[in-house]
Amino acid sequence: MVNLFSMKDYTKSVKGRAQKAFTLLSILLLFAGLLLGGASSKPVQAQATTYPEYVVKPGDSLLWIAAKFNTTLEAIMSVNQLGPESTLHPGDKIKIPSLAGMQGILSSEYVGLGTSLVSLSRRSQAQLSQLIRLNRITSPSELFIGREILMTDVDQESPTAPNTLLEGQSFLELAIKSNVNPWALGRRNLLQNANQAIPQDSFYVPSSVAQLDALAIPGVGSISIGNLPLRQGDTYYLSVESPGKVQVKSELLDFSPQFTDIGDGKQIAYVGIHALTEPGVYPLSMSFTRDDGFEYRFDQLVVIKSGNYATDPPLRVDPATLDGDNIRAEDAIFRDLLAPVTPVQHWDGLFYSPAQDADCVISTFGSRRTYNDDPKIFYHTGLDLGYCKGTDVYAPAVGKVVGALPGLIVRGNTIIIDHGLGVYTIYMHLEEILVEEGAVVERGQLIGVIGTTGRSTGPHLHFEVDIQGTPVNPATWLRRAFP
Ligand SMILES: [Zn+2]
Repeated sequence: MVNLFSMKDYTKSVKGRAQKAFTLLSILLLFAGLLLGGASSKPVQAQATTYPEYVVKPGDSLLWIAAKFNTTLEAIMSVNQLGPESTLHPGDKIKIPSLAGMQGILSSEYVGLGTSLVSLSRRSQAQLSQLIRLNRITSPSELFIGREILMTDVDQESPTAPNTLLEGQSFLELAIKSNVNPWALGRRNLLQNANQAIPQDSFYVPSSVAQLDALAIPGVGSISIGNLPLRQGDTYYLSVESPGKVQVKSELLDFSPQFTDIGDGKQIAYVGIHALTEPGVYPLSMSFTRDDGFEYRFDQLVVIKSGNYATDPPLRVDPATLDGDNIRAEDAIFRDLLAPVTPVQHWDGLFYSPAQDADCVISTFGSRRTYNDDPKIFYHTGLDLGYCKGTDVYAPAVGKVVGALPGLIVRGNTIIIDHGLGVYTIYMHLEEILVEEGAVVERGQLIGVIGTTGRSTGPHLHFEVDIQGTPVNPATWLRRAFP
């Protein structure tokens, strides 16, 4: 039998021995550490810090990556164990020290029409807090259309499409209709509980086609904006799909484009941004009116970036081509000819170059110009293709000739072709016009001969693309196909 006193004594003596042994072990370990050259006294970490990784793209530099992620070159080199001799290759993965604690591959996309932080989060499966931290967002209003948003680990394997919870429909019904487990659907949409699902909110369900831009609007299947980010002097389009009849209106920079019904419940509007628009953030408003009179409106800010347009050297031309009355008289003719929005899309895919040598550019679109020492600033409304390989001028796409105008003082001999949906191409300073008004031309058909008639300083083709009356950068149409 052991009494309490002796028990205490025993404990003390065991403790004392253990302490002595521990101190001895520590000294030995310290010596071992010093011998091995590890002078660090840092405690051993149970788990290594995680970092998300950025995939290097062609043209990237470590300095640029450091600036993009708000860190320093030294920190990036240290975390990635890079030395001064290390080289960077596209496809390399670089750990980002300023985002310690996060993981996955960093990717980016432009904010689309109707995108909110919540919809981005639901689609990409990135936590809201992560999106906010990654993009240093301080207010939801900073989610401008066309802003580049960084995300980690977008789930590309199982693309999702938005689906709207209708008034009176339960989340369970939506899950059954979409053929998914309601609990999985809830998790995918970051809901703790199915009762949190609000009617008319959009939820992402697995789909074979990923729908990037989504806003749940009653009676509207999808809306999207094309050719982001928007730039001064460039083209964009708004597309709306709805199962029933919906009247769509939109306004940006005091302009309301005309929408055209192109069948299959789709409506589209092509729009041009004026080349002299100040770069900045502008409100885009949209409204949808159903047949039963129900109206839904929303506004979202959109970024318009600079077109980085050059300034041409001062030009000398015939003063008659700068005369205000002459300019106004011609502009009035063009305004009328370019106003109709023909409800058919005649073009199909990329535009064919209207000159034999598409690389023979003598002046690009948007460049700021002055004439004959007058301080008035003009801008170049088209693309000047020089007289390099030949003098033939071709139609870039199918269309109808709506103007064959000889002898104009400013524009010279000019052709106008209507390609539908408010998109027109114009050919100026021609030597000869080889088509007649009313003719339907094919893609690549010979339509004229390069010359130097009108306000021109030498033989060239002034090729212009106008959308709902606004000249836009033709180079975009030669480079990318619009649907
Ligand atoms: Zn020109």
